[in-house]
Amino acid sequence: MTTIPVTGNDDATVWAACSRCHSVIYGKRFDRELHVCAECGSHERLTARERACQLFDPAGWDIVDLGITPSDCLGFVDSKPYTQRIEEARALTGMHSAVLCVRGTVDGHEIIAAIMDFRFMGGSLSAAAGEVITVAAETALSEWIPLLIVSASGGARMQEGAMSLMQMAKTNQALADLDDAGVLTVSLVTDPTYGGVAASYATACDVVLAEPAARMGFAGPRVIQQTIGQQLPKGFQTAESLLEQGFVDEIHPVETLRHDAQAGAATRAGRAGSGGPRSGRATRAGPVVRRGDGAPHRAPDDVRLRDPVVDRVRRAARRSRGR
Ligand SMILES: [Zn+2]
Repeated sequence: MTTIPVTGNDDATVWAACSRCHSVIYGKRFDRELHVCAECGSHERLTARERACQLFDPAGWDIVDLGITPSDCLGFVDSKPYTQRIEEARALTGMHSAVLCVRGTVDGHEIIAAIMDFRFMGGSLSAAAGEVITVAAETALSEWIPLLIVSASGGARMQEGAMSLMQMAKTNQALADLDDAGVLTVSLVTDPTYGGVAASYATACDVVLAEPAARMGFAGPRVIQQTIGQQLPKGFQTAESLLEQGFVDEIHPVETLRHDAQAGAATRAGRAGSGGPRSGRATRAGPVVRRGDGAPHRAPDDVRLRDPVVDRVRRAARRSRGR
């Protein structure tokens, strides 16, 4: 999407141009339709804040300011110093890192979300971004509420070298802890999601949703085509082909995403029925966001579902409690 400022007009986004069909769309209509092109249906990028507005109940969410910022651990300089790139990205987005931590309600259900913003250095995964996602996951674990991760990234941040690659293991471990505890995790793949992000938390959640035509992969199609020396099939790495291959569970247009994601998550939330937050469980030290009373948000039996697996687990749990 390209915004077209109009000379002499204070509103710099009066018009927008679709990146696929190049239609020019009136800015207010474009915003009203959640950055979906009315002509071709292309889903243009949303900022992290716009995504939060789209997904959460109106006035039902807050940004959790963790104050985690990227650091130049390698003293990296390419065409400009990494520190300068960080400052430019912060000025552009108003964010500390490429991930925004948000908590709020979706159709009345409390969740915590880690939302990536592609404008922040291509949504690249830095140590700070990995820490925000990990803290969000630890918060979901401590409070027993679902975790949503919205991905939009070109991959690991090259300016942090191995430190950025280590975030794949770190975030995956945090998700594994949620899996062990039976807390629901949902990934929303938006265009584009590549590299270490696609290879870790974007595909490691219980449910993987995607927007129409969102691209996801490890290496990009041009690199793959040059490596194997073959033409790639039409629609390669798009959400539609990934759905056929089993990498994506469901595709949802953005205008129905909030309701459908909530409904889809509810039908799968049965995995949460096997226990509560594990008291005494060792957790990584860090600024975990906790509710004021420190109590879990809901008991496992609060999940009203008709899932046979859940029912079996619950019956077994009741039997063991009765002994
Ligand atoms: Zn279009």
